[in-house]
Amino acid sequence: MREMKNLKQLGEFGLIEHLSSKFNTYSKRVKKGIGDDCAVFSTLSNTSQLISTDALIESIHFDLKTISPKQLGFKAMSVNISDIAAMGGTPYLAVISLGLPKTTSIKFIDKLYSGLKKSCDLYNIQLVGGDTIASPKHLFINICILGEAVKNRVFYRKGARPGDQIFVTGNLGDSAMGLKLLRSKNKSFASKKHSDTLVKKHLEPTPRIKEARLLAKSNVKVTSMIDISDGLEQDLAHLCTTEKIGATLYEKNLPFSEALRNACLEKEYNPTDWILQGGEDYELLFTITPRDVKKLNRLFTKTDIPISHIGEITNIPKKIQLKKKTGKTIFLKMTKGFDHFKPNKRS
Ligand code: ADP
Ligand code: MG
Repeated sequence: MREMKNLKQLGEFGLIEHLSSKFNTYSKRVKKGIGDDCAVFSTLSNTSQLISTDALIESIHFDLKTISPKQLGFKAMSVNISDIAAMGGTPYLAVISLGLPKTTSIKFIDKLYSGLKKSCDLYNIQLVGGDTIASPKHLFINICILGEAVKNRVFYRKGARPGDQIFVTGNLGDSAMGLKLLRSKNKSFASKKHSDTLVKKHLEPTPRIKEARLLAKSNVKVTSMIDISDGLEQDLAHLCTTEKIGATLYEKNLPFSEALRNACLEKEYNPTDWILQGGEDYELLFTITPRDVKKLNRLFTKTDIPISHIGEITNIPKKIQLKKKTGKTIFLKMTKGFDHFKPNKRS
């Protein structure tokens, strides 16, 4: 392709043509990809179809000073994939809307798309369309993703019962600490190795598709599930608000990385605060019927990402308790976490 420097020279349609050349091979299920008024595809029988959308806007969700365009493309896709994982599904199609400031360089967009493509290739997702508009100031990315799940193996937020056991995949708190490190710039308070681990979890989260599929294919009775985007405390509350239930968490079982331990030691932070309130880890939080605990542990013995048994569902409505390492039990206030319309922006 001939050398092109800016959006003005290329125009909307030139840009679409340029981008779509990277996404022009599709599976048989896609009858029409990029290039018509709609994409056309067929669905598999005996599946439930899942659809979700997530938007990211510059200055709220990302800062171009701390994330590379490739990482941004990868992350935008990852956070969407995570919503499909949270239902026990597998993603397969996506469309993307981009709001681009007129000054955006083609080089930047190409890098953004290389990140999107990396994620699509990794998870077998076909990008079949989108929309491209000019944005007055900030870069804006919205992805709509489609997935599918085996009928009767879709996991909802609502469904946990008192006595159900609470589990989580991976480690919590890393992403929030990674963000803190990115914002502290030169005053890094963790060793290079630990800092890299934490920052990577923030900039390149891995959606737990493999783990969600493992659960969906098993016969473990999963009674509710959510992905942790706003922090354990807040997302656990989402599993508890619609029923007459609450939860108890065991502090000693809350999973965190060596890197988080290290960063906390340095700053005299309590890791538990980061685990409870840190967002964007994109781990799976789920509840199962108590009699399946052994079966679940057996299922996850051979996986790369471990699971932790962090608590149980109670019949105390909407209250989350923390059984501390000291033996004391406290009620959590549940005021933190992230809400776009409340003045509690993460700092
Ligand atoms: P319309 O006028 O019907 O909205 P467009 O000219 O916006 O059509 O889009 C033409 C084709 O290019 C469509 O298939 C659309 O899905 C695709 N497309 C537009 N923008 C993007 C993008 N940023 N990434 C991928 N595909 C895109
Ligand atoms: Mg359009």
